This record gives sequence, C-alpha cells and structure tokens, in this order.
Amino acid sequence: MWTSCDQIAINTRNNDPKYAYHSYQSSVICYPKTAIQYPSSISNVVRLVKNARKDGVPIKAIGSRHSITDIICTDGTPISLKLLTKKYYHEDNTATFEAGIKLDQVLLFLQERNRTLINIPIYRGITLAGAIATGAHGSSLKHPASISDQIIGLQVVTGTGELVNINDTKTLKAFRVNLGLLGIVVKVTLKIVPIFKMSIQNSVEEIDILTSGKALEWAREYDHFQLWWFPSLQEVVVAKGNYLPFLKNTTFEGNATNNLITEVTQYTARFAAVLYEFCNWAQIGLTILEGYMRDFLLKSIPTARPLYEEGGTFKNPAVGIGWRLLSSQCRPGTCWWDNPWATVGGTESAIAFDTKHFKGVMTMIQDTLREMPTCFYMSGILIRFMPKSEAYLSLSSGRETFSVEWVNPLRTRRHLDAVVGLGTFQAILQRMVRDFDGIPHWGKNGLHFLGENVLKKNRDNFIAEMKNFDPDGVFLNKFGRRLTGEIGEADVDPEMERCALHDYCICGKDYDCGVGQRCEKLSDGVLVCRDQDNVILGGLGFVFGTNFLAFILYRLFYR
Ligand SMILES: Cc1cc2nc3c(=O)[nH]c(=O)nc-3n(C[C@H](O)[C@H](O)[C@H](O)COP(=O)(O)OP(=O)(O)OC[C@H]3O[C@@H](n4cnc5c(N)ncnc54)[C@H](O)[C@@H]3O)c2cc1C
Repeated sequence: MWTSCDQIAINTRNNDPKYAYHSYQSSVICYPKTAIQYPSSISNVVRLVKNARKDGVPIKAIGSRHSITDIICTDGTPISLKLLTKKYYHEDNTATFEAGIKLDQVLLFLQERNRTLINIPIYRGITLAGAIATGAHGSSLKHPASISDQIIGLQVVTGTGELVNINDTKTLKAFRVNLGLLGIVVKVTLKIVPIFKMSIQNSVEEIDILTSGKALEWAREYDHFQLWWFPSLQEVVVAKGNYLPFLKNTTFEGNATNNLITEVTQYTARFAAVLYEFCNWAQIGLTILEGYMRDFLLKSIPTARPLYEEGGTFKNPAVGIGWRLLSSQCRPGTCWWDNPWATVGGTESAIAFDTKHFKGVMTMIQDTLREMPTCFYMSGILIRFMPKSEAYLSLSSGRETFSVEWVNPLRTRRHLDAVVGLGTFQAILQRMVRDFDGIPHWGKNGLHFLGENVLKKNRDNFIAEMKNFDPDGVFLNKFGRRLTGEIGEADVDPEMERCALHDYCICGKDYDCGVGQRCEKLSDGVLVCRDQDNVILGGLGFVFGTNFLAFILYRLFYR
C-alpha cells in the first residue's frame, strides 16, 4: 500500500484531454484514448472488443459512473451500453435484461408483471451491469443483499471477442462481482420473486444498541434493517422493515415511496453546497447539520421532501411497494450532484467486516471519536448488513457482513482544503482496515485502500479467471493492474497534489494534507492530517497546563 504521495504515479494524461470523462460527482477523472463508444447491438460490442484486441488498445465498459474510484477509467476505449436495454420475461421466475439498462427500468418492467427483485441498493439510477460489477448492495441479513447474488446467468463478450454464456456455479463465483475486468457483460438473467409490499419504520434508539448486541439481533430479525449513527448527538436512528404480501384491498394498503436520494431544485442544491462550504470553512454548525439529517429520517422538515412520502405527506411507519421503499431515484438534472456550479456530491467511505467484529468496530469508532471528536454531518454513519455471499469479490464473501459508510462533501477548493474532521475519518478508516480486516467497497473509498493488498480472499481464483477470460488483458485498466500488483499507478485527478485529502495516500508529510494541516502520527502508528491550529492550541494547552501544574506543586511543597 502507498504511504505517501511520492509513491503514487499520478495520471500522466498521455491521452487527449478532450475525451476526458469523470465520475458522477467529478472527483475521478479518466483520460481515455478515444471518445466513449455507444454500441447499438451486442454484435457491435463483439466488433469493438475484437478491434481493440487487434489494435492493442484496452477497452472497458462503463455504467452511469456512480462509482467514485478509478474502476471506471480506461486508457483505451470506454464503451457505454446505454443503448442496450432490452428486457425478456420468463415463466420460470427469471427475467433477462440487456446490461445497459438502469435498475429503475428493471423494477418497473418487473412490476408490470407482478414480479420484483428480493433486494436492491439504495439508488436505482445505476446500470444493471455497473451494480453487478461492484456488488452494489442494500441491507438485510435475511435476503440476498446484492443484485450480484440474484444472478442466474450472464452473457459476456470475452477478451478474445467471443460471446459466451456463464451459468455454472464456479465461474459465476468470479463473475457475480467482476469489477468489469473479466469481460463485457451484455445480458443478465436474474432470479425474480412475486412483487411484495413492505412496512418500514424509523425510530431513535440509545447508542448502547451498538455494543449490546441489540443492533445485530434486529438485523437478523427484520427483512430489512439498517441504521444511521449520529455520534455527536449520541443517537442512533434505525430503520426496521418487514416484507408483506402484495394483496389489493387488504390491511397492507399504502403506496409510500422513499426519497432518501431526493430531487432538488438548483437553488436548494446551491444553497446546500454553500452551507456545507461555509460550515467547513468556519468550523461551526456541523453538529446542527448532523441534527438536520437525523430529523430528516424521523419527521417532515422544511426544505426537503419527506423521506417516506405518500400523497405529499410524511409517513412513519410507511407501507408501500417493496422496491419503492427500499430505494430511491432522482431524475437526471434534479439530483443533488447535478448542480454544475457547486456539486453536493461527496467523497464516500464504505468498509465491510465480518459481523463477529461488530462490537469491536463500534468500540474503536467511539474511542477514536473520544480522542478526536468530530461529526458526520452529511448523513451520519450508515451501517448496513449482508448475508454470506459465494461471490469471490463480494464484500460479504463467505461471511455474514456489516458495512460502515459515510459521505463527506467536496470542498469548493477541493485540491487544497480538508473537510472538518479529516484526521478522525482517516484514523477510523486505517484502524478499520488494519485491525478488523475491513474490505473496502470497490466503487467507493480513497484509492489508498484499493491497492494490491485489497485482493485477499479468493485472489488467486479471481486472477485465474481474469487470465482465462481476458488472456491479453484488453479489459485491464490501472485499477486492475494495481489490484494484481502489476503497477502502483492510479487514475486520479492530476491537480490533487495533496494526496491524503481524498485518501489517495496515507499522509507522509504535511504537504500531503490540506492547507494549514500537518501530518501527525497517533500513538498506535496511524498517520492522519490534523489542523495546525489544533497542534498550536494543544501545544499552548500543554505549556499552560504543565506550568499550572508546576505552580500548584511549587505552592504545595515549597510554600
Ligand atoms: C447516490 C448513490 C447511491 C449509491 N448507493 C449504493 C448502495 O446502496 N449500495 C452500494 O453498494 N453502492 C451504492 N452506490 C455505489 C454504486 O451503486 C456502485 O458504485 C455501482 O457500481 C455504480 O454503477 P454504475 O452503473 O454507475 O457503474 P459505473 O460506476 O460506471 O461502473 C462500475 C463498474 O462497472 C463496470 N461495468 C459497467 N458496465 C459493465 C458491463 N456492461 N460489463 C462489465 N462491466 C461493466 C465498470 O467497468 C466498472 O468497473 C451508490 C452510489 C451513488 C452515487
């Protein structure tokens, strides 16, 4: 793993910047050799791959670029399957979709046939193939948490340009979460279930549930369970959901929807961006923002559409069609991050663990927050759950899992300024990975955490399938080469010289941190960026404190 910027080879921008594309919130910038290609048929995909192989130019499929790691980049030809969206319903409780379709379209198609998926990620604006590639997940210990775990079969264009069907259990273990490195997925067949309703209720709970075993107990009890921890408020909001049969004219009436990722006007988005920036700059009001988010989960508040909404009214508990309460979606142009002037999109951290570490991780976070208090002002700390998966690279591969996630806003001067609490976030992340065998989400997290060491479990199995399906490495990008240990390079924003600001590195010197910060080693060896002010104030406190103590001792013993 990198420890300092010196060891990161920043994207050299060999290619023409006119073809550059970026992640949805613009923190990851890719410089491909050609413009994005939009094949209109599967045979076009085959042709593009064969040409790429013949010309020795890499190729990689991209989805809606909602991953914020360089998993979305290629040095060669990026291809989007957005024109491949056909849908096929089968009578055997399966359905097949072309891979460029958005999750929202999948769920609408299934609903028209009284069918659905048993579980989905929070956001429906992603592509089916993109969701599968990173193992995007929702939260449940009772049902498969990811789309990957609902795959029955795939149709894939391999690195040699062959169109193959993948149905056997062993090969699917590699393809379920494939990072876009095994082939271009063109069709996906999913297991489907009768459409269901669900009831969901959010409530405030004591912080003790994090360490008493209660949170895990609830996660095992409910069809859907997740929680948001607001450390500076010393509160936890839990969402408990139960699936209900879809019967018209029964007590299960209700048509509520979820607005977690809500639609906003440009003015609201701008106002929020300015507010976040101001609070970070002035280092005030962040606890209030944490409180605002807590309230949003519990009641109707001004400036936001209600979280669970029916007929314009906030509902808690809420009853509605399962997929509409498990997830949300904003239309393009109305999302928080669509504001061209000041995006509210942020950097995301998401690390997953064996549930046996639940209490340990919670205690470590509490201890770190006592050491370096801060708040998680964009959405608290989200904790979600996943049952054991057989996918090699799933976050829950071979183990019952929980994930710890948070979002931080992008600063206006993102290449220079740190978010408030950066050092605390860095200490928690480093301790989570080092002490609890945490596995980072492939589409989130700073790139320091997505180096060679991240491929631990099933590394050899996955790399064997990479060689098998892509012998010439046409799908390899820097992300893939890094995971296999071939190179230490990353596709990062070339202006991001202060590499610890977005966790491209662990700081090794002050310049890796934000302006006015220094790189400090904590007592257990983790290296974090902290405000100089803290050090000065701490130093003053130390000098004042020791002098005061000396004065007391002097008065006690000599006078
Ligand atoms: C608002 C928001 C909410 C989110 N919520 C969740 C959540 O609840 N749970 C969760 O786990 N994640 C979540 N994420 C992360 C996101 O779901 C994942 O990163 C997902 O992979 C993004 O899908 P995409 O279509 O944008 O794909 P991209 O980000 O564009 O690509 C991701 C990967 O898919 C590969 N890929 C795309 N198409 C193909 C193809 N046809 N064949 C092979 N490979 C392909 C790409 O090569 C790349 O490796 C969220 C992100 C956002 C922005």
